[in-house]
Amino acid sequence: SITPATLSAISNGARNGLLFKGGVHLERLSKLKVIAFDKTGTLTKGEPQVTDVMILKEMNETDVLSAAASIEKQSNHPLAKAIVKHVEKEYPHVETGMAEVQEQSGFGVSAVWKGGKWSIGKPDQNEPQNKLTEFGLKKAQEGKTVVYVKNEETLAAVLCLQDGLRHDAVSAIRELKEAGIHTVMLTGDNESTAKSIAEAANVDQYVAECLPDDKVFEVKNLGKTYGQTAMIGDGINDAPALAAANVGIAMGEGTDVALETADVVLMKNDLTKLKKAIELSKKMDRIVK
Ligand code: ADP
Ligand code: MG
Repeated sequence: SITPATLSAISNGARNGLLFKGGVHLERLSKLKVIAFDKTGTLTKGEPQVTDVMILKEMNETDVLSAAASIEKQSNHPLAKAIVKHVEKEYPHVETGMAEVQEQSGFGVSAVWKGGKWSIGKPDQNEPQNKLTEFGLKKAQEGKTVVYVKNEETLAAVLCLQDGLRHDAVSAIRELKEAGIHTVMLTGDNESTAKSIAEAANVDQYVAECLPDDKVFEVKNLGKTYGQTAMIGDGINDAPALAAANVGIAMGEGTDVALETADVVLMKNDLTKLKKAIELSKKMDRIVK
């Protein structure tokens, strides 16, 4: 049965844009030692902008962009939305249609478009080096997210995107650190981009190139090292890690799977409410004891 102290914390949370799906999560939050943040859409706004488009000389620009936009239209990933928006705005003559798309969580998407095989996503480490990959590497070192567009296994284009930190990310991290909580960023993005965002957010630690299962591994590992863990994320790719943490927290605008898997939801995507959540949990804990 639910105690008055728990009820009071839950309703106080609701007034502050915090949805607690039960008292047990508050109890766990009161002992929190470490929190892992997803990067894209959690620490960052998740509204990346396309900054560079480089197309292989032998390819037809219109064909490649038509494929890319049609395929990314089927994905909810923030990078996908940005790519579609960019093509529609900057290349109005490019027509799009329905592609058959499969989301490869943590990697990107693979698709069939006009009978051809396409994939859009993370740079492949084993890709033979050429002008395009060199260009991508340089952009990644500038802190940009680099996306490869491949047609029949051949690299056709490199797209670079830049995303900014949420305006409250730095203060939220600072408050958590002041509360004695170890802060970590987990991301599927490459090492160079991860490093520059982690430094800007001022997290204690970061891990790059994390596939969804790697995020689970890291969360469990952090639990062993520090104790009670929380993981906060917004994407399908974060759901397994949200489930693996002692407390899973979803961004209110996150994907359905993240919202369903999480124990706590930040209704307005306001990261500074993390401090509030911990305060409420500690207050409840004191009253209960
Ligand atoms: P994060 O952990 O930062 O939220 P994700 O795990 O969602 O990142 O994605 C990891 C990487 O996979 C991205 O940096 C990108 O390179 C690639 N990726 C994922 N989804 C897409 C997509 N729809 N289009 C292009 N690239 C994608
Ligand atoms: Mg994300």
